[in-house]
Amino acid sequence: MKVKETNNAAETKFLGYELGLLLKDESHIVILLDGELGAGKTTFTQGLADGLGIKQIVNSPTFTIMKKYLTPDKSRSLYHLDLYRLHEAGSDFDLEEYIDGSGIVVIEWPFQVEEFMPKEYIKISIKVENETKRIFTLECFGYPCKKAMSFI
Ligand code: ADP
Ligand code: MG
Repeated sequence: MKVKETNNAAETKFLGYELGLLLKDESHIVILLDGELGAGKTTFTQGLADGLGIKQIVNSPTFTIMKKYLTPDKSRSLYHLDLYRLHEAGSDFDLEEYIDGSGIVVIEWPFQVEEFMPKEYIKISIKVENETKRIFTLECFGYPCKKAMSFI
């Protein structure tokens, strides 16, 4: 487990960027992002996308549940999921397809998904301390994230 503090959105993006760099060569990993509205889940994901080499602008997938991004050479993909409105999507949305699939999978509002989790995943909880200060708790479940975390 690793605890990191950020004091503005740029620092949160950088933290995501560092993790993105470390996960660059992973073929599949699921990252759960937990934290209240405005905690910085999407901001973190923007940095992570940058670290993966994605050039597209990452924004909130709230109304679409899932957005897919690719690196320019199409070698890596990021699936950005926001489950806040999952109940509205009914049974049409197949969460397990992404959890068991490929690419880097980031899940905002991961309530009720832990039962589906693979052996290896990363859980990041964001606590809002005040308007600009956030506390990130990064937890690794299985390899390879343990190794990745030691560098952050
Ligand atoms: P979420 O996806 O968790 O709802 P967002 O990333 O969309 O949150 O929004 C976070 C908001 O909080 C942004 O407006 C951002 O500028 C602001 N903010 C202030 N301090 C921080 C910080 N330390 N980390 C991330 N965002 C911050
Ligand atoms: Mg968000």
